[in-house]
Amino acid sequence: MPAQIGFIGLGIMGAGMARNLVENGNDVVVWNRTASRMESLVEAGASPATSPADVARRCSVVMICVSDTPDVDAVLHGESGLLAGVSNGSLIVDHSTISPGATVDFAGEAAALGGSWIDAPVSGGSEGAARGTLSIMVGGDESDVERARPYMEAFGTTITHVGPVGSGQKVKIVNQILVVVNQLAVSEALLFAQAAGLDLDATLDAVTGGAAGSWMLANRGPQMIERDWRPGFTIDLQQKDLRLALEAADAAGTPIPGTALVFQMYRALQNQGLGGDGNHALVKALEKMSGIEVGG
Ligand code: NAP
Repeated sequence: MPAQIGFIGLGIMGAGMARNLVENGNDVVVWNRTASRMESLVEAGASPATSPADVARRCSVVMICVSDTPDVDAVLHGESGLLAGVSNGSLIVDHSTISPGATVDFAGEAAALGGSWIDAPVSGGSEGAARGTLSIMVGGDESDVERARPYMEAFGTTITHVGPVGSGQKVKIVNQILVVVNQLAVSEALLFAQAAGLDLDATLDAVTGGAAGSWMLANRGPQMIERDWRPGFTIDLQQKDLRLALEAADAAGTPIPGTALVFQMYRALQNQGLGGDGNHALVKALEKMSGIEVGG
């Protein structure tokens, strides 16, 4: 009988990650705040839980993938919260992207109950979660990371232990700075290509495999040309990560002007009701400034 593994948060990312755990032969217990989101996982073979505490009582390793710092807080606390079910030897693996400082506090609470915590935010988008090809940046004790590794291998291909608890979240901020400044470059480049009268598909074919290529260009470039704004990652969630980046950079005394610019551009799009669009809709801010529209 394989050990039971718990998974809390079956959103765009969590659903794909949990499905990969099930398909890899694990005995998976799931919980999601909106219960209907558990149905397809249960059909795939997972077992539903009644609360985060129920998950923790049934599983010694519990993964979380929810939206933001207050949401992890909500999952952990209260009568039916995860910490109510934590006991000696419990391991919590947090795949959410949240505050590095709050992460250290949550890890301290788990430790006081005899449990341990690793922060393991992911990168690779909804595609990576579904295909099981995520990059995972992990902070925590070596032994805890190795204990969780076989489970993380169900949905991650690059799993890097980057330091003590909280380090995974800091590296995720590095990742997000790279993502958004790259997204700005893709947006500017496609806007210019449009204005210059170029064939956009041929332009992408020409540059994607060269030194200017990137995940963002290869995956979101074609979507931008099609004007398909369905989210792999929403502007609202991206903005949450940029807030974490600006706070952490401020604390470290680091200027991050490109990231700050993108934060303001996304804020303008949120004010226009576009927070639910994918983060590649950044180009819409430039379109409104310039009167030029990409693709279509
Ligand atoms: P999502 O589709 O919006 O799903 C959010 C999940 O969190 C849902 O299961 C939601 O439950 C749950 N949740 C939110 N607030 C909660 C609360 N207060 N209590 C309990 N559950 C709560 O988001 P996602 O795209 O999967 O992102 C999840 C995490 O992964 C975020 O930290 C995000 O930054 C990170 N991430 C996302 C991507 C991406 O491309 N999407 C890539 C890398 C990392 P309900 O169903 O009840 O709303």
